[in-house]
Amino acid sequence: MANQRYDVVVIGSGPAGYIAAIRAAQLGLKVACAEKWTNPKGELALGGTCLNVGCIPSKALLASSEKFEEAQSHLDVHGIEIAGAKIDVQKMQARKDGIVSKMTKGIEFLFRKNKIDWLKGHARLTGTLGDAYGVEVDTAQGAIQVEAVSVIIATGSKARHLPGVAVDNQMVCDNEGALAMPAVPKRLGVIGAGVIGLELGSVWRRLGASVTVLEALPGFLSACDESISKEALKLFTKQGLSINLGAKIGSVNVGKKAVSIDWTDAKGVAQTLEVDRLIVSVGRIPNTDGLGLESVGLALDERGFIPVDDHCRTVLPRVYAVGDVVRGPMLAHKGEDEGVMVAELIAGQKPHIDYNAIPWVIYTSPEIAWVGRTEQQLKAEGRAYKAGQFPFAANGRALGMATADGFVKMLADATTDELLGVHIIGPGASDLIAEAAVAIEFKASSEDIARVCHPHPSLSEVLREAALAVDKRALNM
Ligand code: FAD
Ligand code: NAD
Repeated sequence: MANQRYDVVVIGSGPAGYIAAIRAAQLGLKVACAEKWTNPKGELALGGTCLNVGCIPSKALLASSEKFEEAQSHLDVHGIEIAGAKIDVQKMQARKDGIVSKMTKGIEFLFRKNKIDWLKGHARLTGTLGDAYGVEVDTAQGAIQVEAVSVIIATGSKARHLPGVAVDNQMVCDNEGALAMPAVPKRLGVIGAGVIGLELGSVWRRLGASVTVLEALPGFLSACDESISKEALKLFTKQGLSINLGAKIGSVNVGKKAVSIDWTDAKGVAQTLEVDRLIVSVGRIPNTDGLGLESVGLALDERGFIPVDDHCRTVLPRVYAVGDVVRGPMLAHKGEDEGVMVAELIAGQKPHIDYNAIPWVIYTSPEIAWVGRTEQQLKAEGRAYKAGQFPFAANGRALGMATADGFVKMLADATTDELLGVHIIGPGASDLIAEAAVAIEFKASSEDIARVCHPHPSLSEVLREAALAVDKRALNM
């Protein structure tokens, strides 16, 4: 029997892959998507890291733990007393698992709706077959061969582990174990003060763990605008996260009941940290295991990513790669946009992505979000800019919500007033940043934002006031 032939085979169904598959199907192409993810129940699941062990479960736990902390210690200002608030970790985890299951099943529904075939198993390229590429998928029923006119590689990333520190996701956890702890550890260690370390460190701190974070770099959150990272360090430390910068990790010894970490602090003093659980969150690496790239002659770059151009084209005709497996920030929405772009390219359209307009969010409390350039980047680029800043403490809505920490900072070109960067630390930053992303994508000026009517009272007024502050005419300060 002849192999099944598809216009497009997508390998991987994370946000980059499943969105690419749906967009390609919308454009009339015959599409299959290979996915091998097996969830803890032993079921095959769509959705990749993001839905199964990333964005979605982490945000569910962040929300639960934020409510618990609020019930415990932040409601008295409203005149509300809740004595003896308790957390049922099993129930919290079950809620999270339910959301993951609902979302991943939702993609199965979307695949059926868009007539996308799910090839259930590990896929690898097997070479060229005339004008197409051969793809073999190891399914539970044995290997199947299909032909793909175009291939979209969306195989994502996996947690980077430290040499000599075995991750068992019980005592020593990467993101998978950190999201699945059955009880609150008394003492939690976190190696790496990046996004995962801060988000999941915050979850377990809010639930009662004493959290110590060891970060190798001397600076904190170096991708953020410096004034934001300074404020964040101050606020997170005040909340009770013990953040140690410039830490050099030595040996890590895992016992039956505790993990002991030898490390050297920024002053060169030897230290030992004893914890009940350890999270290792030191970044993620592209996932190209067993992908058969050699069969088509596709080489990786020196960091293990699949090399692509601005349009996610590899050096091979009709082979594209999107999401975490290629350069750029490891963000779900960046992968989604690349998936859409590539599907449209295959269908003959002319899409493009402005990578400068991709927003970043860290879902701590307060949230951190930004888009465009940081002040330190503008300085390094030698670009003349003006800055405006406005605090949430001067905003009636933030005060009413009793969440008035933080500020919005805007950076605009000194001559043209073009908006160059928007940086937020404060309540609702993940939603507020969308306005700034639209403005940057549309090449708006800070005056454009300042002249647009914003609802009152709302957190969005802080954005407008920061835009007014660029021209030194904030009205409420
Ligand atoms: P992935 O989501 O990693 O999906 C790749 C898929 O490919 C996997 O399902 C894998 O099983 C499959 N696959 C791999 N190889 C094969 C093969 N050979 N055959 C078949 N299938 C294969 N980003 C955000 O933007 N916002 C957040 O809030 C956020 N939170 C996060 C929290 C955590 C704890 C983590 C770990 C990540 C978070 N991220 C977040 C990052 C986000 O999850 C990733 O950027 C995103 O999942 C990347 O999407 P992707 O489609 O490229 O890859
Ligand atoms: P990260 O790159 O955000 O942070 C890793 C941190 O570990 C860095 O600060 C790094 O300096 C530090 N580090 C590296 N080696 C170390 C060592 N030996 N000792 C001590 N510290 C060390 O990585 P992450 O937190 O693991 O997250 C992985 C990816 O997942 C990120 O790229 C991020 O984009 C994505 N993610 C995004 C979100 C979000 O968008 N809200 C949330 C979670 C994860």
